[in-house]
Amino acid sequence: MFHDPENYRKIVGDSVIAEIYKKARKLYGKYILNINSTYQGGGVAEILSSLVPLMNNTGIDAEWRILHGNPDFFTVTKKFHNALQGAKINLTDLKKKLYTETNGDFAIYTHIKHDAVMIHDPQPLPLITFYRKRQPWIWRCHIDLTDPNKEVWDYLKSFILRYDAVIVSMEEYKRNDLPVQQFVIPPAIDPLTPKNMPLPKDTIDRFLKKFNIPKDKPLITQISRFDPWKDPLGVIEVFKKVKEEVDARLVLCGSMASDDPEGYEIYDEVQKAAKPLVEKGDIILLTTENNILVNVLQRVSDVILQKSTREGFGLTVTEALWKGTPVVASNVGGIKLQIKNGWNGFLLDPKDYDGFAKKIIEILKDEELARTLGKNGTEYVRKNFLITRLLIQHLDLLNEIL
Ligand code: UDP
Repeated sequence: MFHDPENYRKIVGDSVIAEIYKKARKLYGKYILNINSTYQGGGVAEILSSLVPLMNNTGIDAEWRILHGNPDFFTVTKKFHNALQGAKINLTDLKKKLYTETNGDFAIYTHIKHDAVMIHDPQPLPLITFYRKRQPWIWRCHIDLTDPNKEVWDYLKSFILRYDAVIVSMEEYKRNDLPVQQFVIPPAIDPLTPKNMPLPKDTIDRFLKKFNIPKDKPLITQISRFDPWKDPLGVIEVFKKVKEEVDARLVLCGSMASDDPEGYEIYDEVQKAAKPLVEKGDIILLTTENNILVNVLQRVSDVILQKSTREGFGLTVTEALWKGTPVVASNVGGIKLQIKNGWNGFLLDPKDYDGFAKKIIEILKDEELARTLGKNGTEYVRKNFLITRLLIQHLDLLNEIL
């Protein structure tokens, strides 16, 4: 098992590992329960897959449970998610009922005797109302909260006010109108998982062959759920502009997450928009959930795109930076924390299609630039966004709160 702090020594150094063991000491034997709504697909599942086993390997009894919901429930919670990022919503009593009742049903068979509870994102937020509260509850919000729909924010606040603490990913997501202690913890990636570990060349070649991805032309890739906020249609427009000058190929890779029912709808739109280029073999659409495939794509691509219009953090950006692949991304949300424009990648306004195309072409034509951006990207992630740092910040928070 690689989820042992010991295995990270070579990457982060002895003092970081010693700090983890030291900060875990007062938490030995504490039961910490994490609840979110999917075990795969999206950033939250990605983080929990590493953070929870790592906590267990430092002496903490961390658990992870998944909220059960039917497709209607997840349609409603995706609307809440979108509304928290500023979209419109028709907030009916029916939606509220489905939301709270699903949580109530789950509470019946989910017994919580833990020392602390960490609730991830809005789906399981109302759970807190179904228990006699015996321990601190923390709401970990992975969403951009800078401009939420007022009605939804006000409704969700009625649950959030019961919490002991809230964690957001960036300083600017803290809310002045929320009189609850707020912590800032940016997400992080695990360098040892199949998604991020170094890969031998024959594995890379095997995967490229298996998924029919030729490497005869420069490769531009966006890896993201098929979600309007990730702007896959905008990516296609940018790609068309790039192709006017450089013959290249685009991969859009997006697996489906069980808590995101919008995926299939958006995928259909993308398929229509991309049809002629897909038929020519210049756009490849992938929906397979496969961590090594993501790893391969992030390593072999000449440019990784992240053309989001909103982005809580954007682990896909961290993953690509870590692998030393140049990233061209939107100047939004958590991406701004990760890319210093011109130093370890390029940042552009999401509406600036010409700007995106220009920067991609610049990288494709300048190997030295690509190498420098990649080198700086890896170092920046090593210093700021590895899972060991995230673990330490969670230990600090638990030490403060328990
Ligand atoms: N991801 C994946 N396969 C895909 C698309 C995404 O494994 O086809 C992963 C991606 O590598 C990253 C996570 O899902 O680890 C997405 O996290 P991010 O923060 O970028 O966005 P979110 O989906 O949480 O909005």
